[in-house]
Amino acid sequence: MAYVVTENCIRCKYTDCVEVCPVDCFYAGENFLVINPDECIDCGVCEPECPAEAIFPDSDDRATPWLEVNSKYAAVWPNITRKIDSMPDADDWKDKPGKEAMLSPEPHKD
Ligand code: SF4
Ligand code: SF4
Repeated sequence: MAYVVTENCIRCKYTDCVEVCPVDCFYAGENFLVINPDECIDCGVCEPECPAEAIFPDSDDRATPWLEVNSKYAAVWPNITRKIDSMPDADDWKDKPGKEAMLSPEPHKD
């Protein structure tokens, strides 16, 4: 079992989630975060902290299409363990559907 970051995280980067994770298993891309399913201990603490309601347990149907995305990018993006500034237009994109095509494969850069 693991928790999974899904579409609504795209273009947000609020990163409230990373501050509460006890095992630091979030990884950051240019405009999206993922959870490493091999490191997540399934504690569920991050789920209610996400303002975009983008995190679901892998048993939830909404997580299923994103499982592979989280595994794939957790292997290549840098680990993130502290809160950073959200994207400048994050509030404009929050809750907007159809963001999947905007997912950048590029890693986060400080
Ligand atoms: S708090 Fe939610 S929307 Fe923000 S970076 Fe974490 S998973 Fe993504
Ligand atoms: S469920 Fe727990 S261990 Fe997994 S990503 Fe969320 S806070 Fe981290």
